[in-house]
Amino acid sequence: MKCPSCHNLDTKVVDSRVLDDNIAIRRRRECEKCGFRFSTMEEVEILNLTVMKREGQEMPYDKERLVISLQKALQKRPMTPERLKRIIQAIEQDIQNKSKNDRITSEEIGEIVMKHLKKADKVAYIRFASVYRDFEDIEAFSEEVNKLINKKRNKK
Ligand SMILES: [Zn+2]
Repeated sequence: MKCPSCHNLDTKVVDSRVLDDNIAIRRRRECEKCGFRFSTMEEVEILNLTVMKREGQEMPYDKERLVISLQKALQKRPMTPERLKRIIQAIEQDIQNKSKNDRITSEEIGEIVMKHLKKADKVAYIRFASVYRDFEDIEAFSEEVNKLINKKRNKK
């Protein structure tokens, strides 16, 4: 990292801080020549994974797809962009943890998304699950809905 003051190439990191829920890392750097201090912001690495689909196809992990499916599930639900951002980060963290040798199955991603949606918004969870799990019949679907309703009742 080049020093902005004397353009010397040797600068050292004196402090690193993760900002905004893992979105970026702020580093305090110091020039080894002139002692000038400055900060840099570095985006946290994006996930570089291969997703294995049920039919055996492989494709690169695509955050855009995740975001779109979440937005669809959350349509007209109360959700702030900040909260959605945090959910996406939590999902991606789980995806990273669950992956092995930079590979993960689409089922595993689906389960992770469902887990987080279930906590965040029950309606969105049902929407996502009904598409994702492809509920065999209406009975399986209403069973899942009833489970959620009963859980809510028991809490009261
Ligand atoms: Zn310098």
